[in-house]
Amino acid sequence: MFIIFGWRVVAFTVGRGVFHCPACGGDREYRRRQGRNFFTLFFLPVIPLTKAGGEFVECDTCRGRWNLGVLDVPTTAQLSLMPAMLLRTAIAQVLRSGDYTHPGARARAVAVVRQAGDTGYDEGALNADLGRPFDEIRVEMARASSALAPEARESILRAAAEIALADGPLSVSEEETLTAVGADLALTQVQIVGVVSMARQSSGH
Ligand SMILES: [Zn+2]
Repeated sequence: MFIIFGWRVVAFTVGRGVFHCPACGGDREYRRRQGRNFFTLFFLPVIPLTKAGGEFVECDTCRGRWNLGVLDVPTTAQLSLMPAMLLRTAIAQVLRSGDYTHPGARARAVAVVRQAGDTGYDEGALNADLGRPFDEIRVEMARASSALAPEARESILRAAAEIALADGPLSVSEEETLTAVGADLALTQVQIVGVVSMARQSSGH
């Protein structure tokens, strides 16, 4: 009797999720997979040997294979939440540079974030945002704003400026924070000054 043996690569699923598939052009389910060399007996893999190559991402729909870097591209679902997320962080920074206990400013902050699509946002979430470390927020903002159009970034700064103006004219520290937030949103100095002065005019302060 013959004994037929050899080896082949078998891919195992080590994770799952949703990603933006470059071939399908939209959000798709994926499997994160790792190849492994197997010793085969009668063509059946029986003994696992070394790992074969790196991990890769396979689209469930088109079966296209990509390296793990593809997971860094935001999905459409993540992109649609980005304005609300940026708004939250911008508002929290501006609010804490002024009187963050002002009921009018707080109520307005919660309402604006809810309107932007984060319907579960409330006072508790606002307090949590107010307590987040500054550096962490800035990194998040820089990453998210690169994916947004300039008009969207301007309207986020505008909303933050309106909230800063809810408790009266801008203080020096509120003004400085708005400038810093505008810079984090990748707006130019001219754009920042324009947005803030429009918000001032409409608030009457
Ligand atoms: Zn695909």
